[in-house]
Amino acid sequence: MERKNIFGLTLDELETELLPLPKFRAKQVAAWIYQRGVTSFDEMSDLSKNLRGELAEKFFVQLPQLVKQLDSADGLTTKFLLKFSDDTAVETVLMRHDYGNSICISTQVGCAMGCKFCASTLKGLDRNLTAAEMLGEIIFIQNFLRGTNEKVDTLVIMGTGEPLVNFDNVIKMLRLLHEPYTLGLSYRKVTISTCGIVPAIKQLIEEKIPVTLSISLHAPTNKLRSEIMPINSAFSLNEVLKAGNDYANSTGRRVTYEYILLGGVNDTEEHARQLAKILDGQLASVNLIPVNPVDERNFKPPTHNATQKFFHFLATHGINVTIRKEMGADVNAACGQLRANS
Ligand code: SF4
Repeated sequence: MERKNIFGLTLDELETELLPLPKFRAKQVAAWIYQRGVTSFDEMSDLSKNLRGELAEKFFVQLPQLVKQLDSADGLTTKFLLKFSDDTAVETVLMRHDYGNSICISTQVGCAMGCKFCASTLKGLDRNLTAAEMLGEIIFIQNFLRGTNEKVDTLVIMGTGEPLVNFDNVIKMLRLLHEPYTLGLSYRKVTISTCGIVPAIKQLIEEKIPVTLSISLHAPTNKLRSEIMPINSAFSLNEVLKAGNDYANSTGRRVTYEYILLGGVNDTEEHARQLAKILDGQLASVNLIPVNPVDERNFKPPTHNATQKFFHFLATHGINVTIRKEMGADVNAACGQLRANS
């Protein structure tokens, strides 16, 4: 009989798999694999030796495997290249902030969205990740932190891939991650980033899970946005802004608009003025991200002066604005660069 992977099952699913064992056995196994980082039945010391043997004959616990780990010189960022059973690999990043450990996971192998500044899309989309694989990225890092008295505190779904085109798997993973028998992570500690898949933003409202929505805007006009983000031809700037506004109004949660500053492309005072205008009155904030240069792309970072001027224009025109702290540039922290270079 072929053995079955039980990592990624809900407690209900695990109870069914383990039948005719009593339900409390499923609870014990779930605690071992999701909370104690165990992948071998041999280590499940509150199960009898016979039972451990029986389970090992039928099941296995599969986490992604580490291919490469890079630590930034300041010790604050660690980037992992993780491999799944079909040998595809994705990047997962651990960032140590003063408010806790944040991790950034990937949701797809590659990406079909074609954003012009992004390395993740250079080879197109390979496949969606399953809920179990995404949960595996998170539990892998939780296990990495084990023994340091630290844990995963916040999750950003902002790595390789467009999470909202892998909607069902992402939601399944978030619901599992929220369960007390896994990490019990509050939805409020989760940020989902999208390039603006309007119907899926509406679907996310219906899910009624209070995650923070982050929308990649990157340009204040339709023309410029279409030039750097092909998705804009499917869902226009106005539609995206309306969906963001609906999300903020329905959830009461401020939407973050990501704006990558591309030197000489979208970083002038006129762009800042246009951006302030389209966000006027929205429950929103702007996160400015000076671009990380990608070898394969032609964009250059904005000057320090341009970044500061852009920031001050927005700040003095009623926009809640931050500049993303650069983390891990020395470990290829920009989306997709480690995978593209390996
Ligand atoms: S920025 Fe995100 S949505 Fe755009 S191509 Fe890269 S991974 Fe895909």
